[in-house]
Amino acid sequence: MSSPDVNLNLNVRGMGQSATVAINDRSNALRKEGREVFKLGLGQSPFPVPSSVVAELQANAFQKDYLPVKGLRELRKAVADYHRRTQGMACDTEDVLIGPGSKELMFLLQLVYYGDLIIPTPAWVSYAPQANIIGRHIQWIHTEKSDQWRMTPAQLEAVCRRDAGRPRVLILNYPSNPTGATFSADQLQALAEVARRYKVVVLSDEIYGELHHEGRHVSIARFYPEGTIVSSGLSKWAGAGGWRLGTFAFPRSMQWLLEAMAAVASETYTSVSAPIQFAACRAFRGGLDIEKYLHHSRRILNALGGWCAARMEAAGVSVSPPDGGFYLFPDFSACARATRLRSRSSSEWTENLLEDTGVAILPGSSFGRSDEELQARLAYVDFDGGRALYASQSVTEPEALDEEFLRTFCPNVTNAIDRLAEWAGH
Ligand code: PMP
Repeated sequence: MSSPDVNLNLNVRGMGQSATVAINDRSNALRKEGREVFKLGLGQSPFPVPSSVVAELQANAFQKDYLPVKGLRELRKAVADYHRRTQGMACDTEDVLIGPGSKELMFLLQLVYYGDLIIPTPAWVSYAPQANIIGRHIQWIHTEKSDQWRMTPAQLEAVCRRDAGRPRVLILNYPSNPTGATFSADQLQALAEVARRYKVVVLSDEIYGELHHEGRHVSIARFYPEGTIVSSGLSKWAGAGGWRLGTFAFPRSMQWLLEAMAAVASETYTSVSAPIQFAACRAFRGGLDIEKYLHHSRRILNALGGWCAARMEAAGVSVSPPDGGFYLFPDFSACARATRLRSRSSSEWTENLLEDTGVAILPGSSFGRSDEELQARLAYVDFDGGRALYASQSVTEPEALDEEFLRTFCPNVTNAIDRLAEWAGH
């Protein structure tokens, strides 16, 4: 018998597990040794799934039939209504595709759409490996700290002008993993004009849209409806990453793309778990309880993200306060301790930080930045979200949640930031 890797696809050879999974494994190993570990590496929602959505899942546990490949009709309608209600998109049931996580849908998109990928960095860890598995060419756009890591229209234009006729997909993720930054409506409009001029398909990854800290997320689909696919799902705003349900909303002119992706889906995963799809209808239809849940989730993340950023800035670590989601992308290049470690391999200084302080964060190199840079992604999610949500409800509005609240209900995060600040100060 041949050795197992002889027949491995060339594109997959040498690929490891994703960086976020690796840091989680290392953190767990240290915890097993009895060390105190602060898990700011893995980006998972700290909040429980809204109870009405859990109840709906329980009530639908008996659903056992295979569902249509494109998704349960009621759910596709609920998702279309959601996009119409929240962003004014002209979206109908027929324009929605349901998949086992938006990550899988992104993979299918890259598989069926023959084109280059434009990825602004820093970028989420899985876009590029997906492109590599499939063998797609990537055009990177390295954004600047002085632009708060936001791609500018000029940067997009410069890439598009080269080989102007090439089919391309731009992945635009906002609020961003890993930076927490989002775009203003004006910035989106300017990017939309460039995308339209060069007929670039925009995959708008809005998985953190509902976690805009002020509840003011704006989609680029408002300005470029004919060329934008909006990606969303239950994983972040409904705290249901492990349920594996993602959604794509296509412009009508790209129906052929939806059909092609559904054809591949029918030969691979068939359809998303039936009970999950029934429960997801409840989440996307929304209602007062979901609004309240989101309001308090945002309020906590807003206060905590702002506090973390301010505490690190005061310790000489440069970081922009986040607009949404639950990540920060601090820059440690002004810290003597980090710069002393710069000469070694890219992730060594974050490993050193983990060993010294017990704080697990991911190096910027995991997000498409160069080894030389000393940035890292920090996920401020290591707290009991259920307890924090409950407590936030008894703090009178419009008062912001203060440091005492954060230290009481998110102590792992505040302690971790204290340790980071102290480490950086040496
Ligand atoms: N996009 C971004 C930016 C993400 O952070 C994630 C999850 N970490 C995903 C997409 C995929 O989410 P899911 O597959 O759970 O829908």
